[in-house]
Formats: sequence, C-alpha cells, structure tokens
Amino acid sequence: MPYYGDNIIRHTLRQWGIQGRLLYSIIGAIIVFFVCQFGLLYREWATLDDQKTVLQAEIHAKERRLDEASRLLRTKERDLYRLEKRVVQLEEKLRDRLSLVEDRSDLPMIYFITPTHYRPEQRAELTRLSNTLRQVPNLFWILVEDAEKRSPGVAEVLARSKLQHAHIFSLTPADKKLTDKDKNWKLPRGVEQRNAALTWIRTNLAGIQKGVVYFGDDDNSYDLRLFDEIRAVKKVGVWPVGIVGSLLVETPIIGAEGKLTGFNSIWKPERPFPIDMAAFAVNLQLILAHEDVAFTYEVPRGYQESHLLSGLGISASDLEPMADHCSKVYVWHTRTEKSKLTATEREKFKSSNLLAVERDAVGAA
Ligand code: UDP
Ligand code: MN
Repeated sequence: MPYYGDNIIRHTLRQWGIQGRLLYSIIGAIIVFFVCQFGLLYREWATLDDQKTVLQAEIHAKERRLDEASRLLRTKERDLYRLEKRVVQLEEKLRDRLSLVEDRSDLPMIYFITPTHYRPEQRAELTRLSNTLRQVPNLFWILVEDAEKRSPGVAEVLARSKLQHAHIFSLTPADKKLTDKDKNWKLPRGVEQRNAALTWIRTNLAGIQKGVVYFGDDDNSYDLRLFDEIRAVKKVGVWPVGIVGSLLVETPIIGAEGKLTGFNSIWKPERPFPIDMAAFAVNLQLILAHEDVAFTYEVPRGYQESHLLSGLGISASDLEPMADHCSKVYVWHTRTEKSKLTATEREKFKSSNLLAVERDAVGAA
C-alpha cells in the first residue's frame, strides 16, 4: 500500500512539476534531514542528565555559600550590637570622668552630711558610700563619727575617697544611745552628729555663696542623678524616697499645675512635713541665716525633719518639687540587716583581740 503521506508529498511535488528520480531524491533528502535532526536531538537529550547533575551541584554549592554568608551576617550583626553597647558604655564613662576633671568650680558645692557609728558593717557601708560620692563633682563630705574621737579606720576610707571632706565627731550621750538589748525606738539617731555638722558649716562656711546641704545616711542607696537635683535646689527641694515609711515610695503629691498638694505618707501623716531625712536638701544660705536651728531630742520620733524645716521658716508652699515633678526615685532608704555573728565573734569585735585581717574588715584601729 502506498504511504499516504508519501502520496501527498508526491502529489504536491507533481503539482509543482517535479517528477521521477528528482522527486525521490527530494523525498530522500527530506527523510535524511529529519533523521539527522532526530540524531542531533537525541545526542542533546543524552547530555541533559549530565548538565542537570552539574547544575544541581552548582545550586548546592551556591546554597552552601548563601548559608555561610547568612551565618557571617548574623555574627557581624552580633558584633555590631556589642560594639554599639560598648560605645554607649564608653560614652558614659567618658562623661563621668570628664565631669571630674573639667573645671566645675562654678557648680554649687554639695555639703553631704553623714552621721556614722562603729559596727561590724560600718567599713563596708562607708566604702560603698565613698564609691558613690567620689563620682560626684563639687561634693564636700562632712562625715561625723558617733565617737569620742576620730578613728583611723574612717580616716582611711576618707583619704582613699580623694573627696574634699571634714572628718569630725560627736558622741551620742549614753542615755540617748540605742543599745542592742534596749531597742528604744523612740530615740532618734544621728541628732548629735547632724548638729555637729551644722555647727561646722556655720563656723567654716560663713560668707560662702553657693552651696546646698543634704543629710545622707551611711546605709542609704543613692542614684548619681540625685546630686544634680540637690545642686539645683534654691530654697528647699523635695523628692520621693524609695522603700521608707512602710511604703514602696514615700513622696510629695504633685497637682495638675505641677504644684505640691500634699504627701502620700501613712506613718504619722499629721506631721507638718511627713518626709524622710533623705527626701530634701536645703540651700546653704538658709542654714547660715538661721544660726540656732538644729535637731533635737525634744520632739517625738519622726519629727526631726519637720522640726528643722519649720525652724528654717519654711512652709509647704516653699517646697520645690524635684526629680521630674516627683515622678523619679533617686534615693532609697535601704537598711543593712544586722549581720549574723556568733556571740564569740561579737565579743571579739568589741575587744582589741582582732586578727590583722579582721581589723581590716571592720576598720578597727
Ligand atoms: N547613727 C549614728 N549613731 C547611732 C545610730 C545611727 O551615728 O547610734 C547614724 C547611722 O550610721 C546613719 C544615721 O545615723 O548614718 C541613721 O541611722 P540608721 O541608719 O540606723 O537609722 P534609720 O535607717 O532607722 O533611719
Ligand atoms: Mn538607715
């Protein structure tokens, strides 16, 4: 049977006037052409698998490189984060150091009054406090020992602090002294010592124009930002104190217009100024102008602050609310727990039989 396709081709070629051997040659050529094409296609198809393997290997290699690159990126990002943190730390350090070496004599001096008494924890407290105070420019530390003389241990801490200071002492009379057994909570602490500091100020600073006085106990915790607030006090500045008076924060209350409207105290809220000793600072001029104003045993417990401020002729409307409208806490009335010591160790502490290293620990003579 004649091949139908062949017939069509022949028919078509005949129509174009192509016949006989020529006709078969052309058909042959066409067939050879297609066979060759097929051959070529087959050869290419046969190499496709190889190409696929090569391409897959390339893809794997590229994926591996991508993984490595993202790992490297993550490492670099971490390094960058660390470096940025370091830059911030260095900036802070630099600022602190500069504030100490710069000429800041234009800044009002802060007179920081600290009563302190001998106990096993005293050296630790004073060391910690001196490490805070030495970071503050233009600060004068008036350290008043509750003792009958200056002790070398305290002098040593003061000398190491490199701070400007006055090292004075004033012994609390025996009948006013709190003892371990007799917990006479009615007795105020630091009365003699703070008064000795006020006397020192009036004797030594008469005529000094710029200064602010602050009563900073040896066991409280101070944020360095407190000192900027103290320095800015014009008459009497007040601010919140953390963990005091049975509250998380004892603070003046500030009304809508930024004015002081009251206090949140729950301990003896009827006091004229129901605030802690750490909650205020007084301009030096006010202390100098009221020569006789001092702390006293004659008022009920908790009334020392009120007694002093009333004596200085201050009323609630004179108080300058500070620390960002009393929204920030820069000082905490922390108290150091009485350390657990055996009876023998306590006896030894009071005696002169201390080892050299024990003397160093407690700052004993
Ligand atoms: N202080 C003192 N003699 C004492 C008791 C206390 O000089 O017999 C000092 C003490 O070192 C501190 C301040 O007075 O700087 C207030 O005392 P404390 O911290 O014991 O009182 P509180 O925390 O109860 O206000
Ligand atoms: Mn205290």
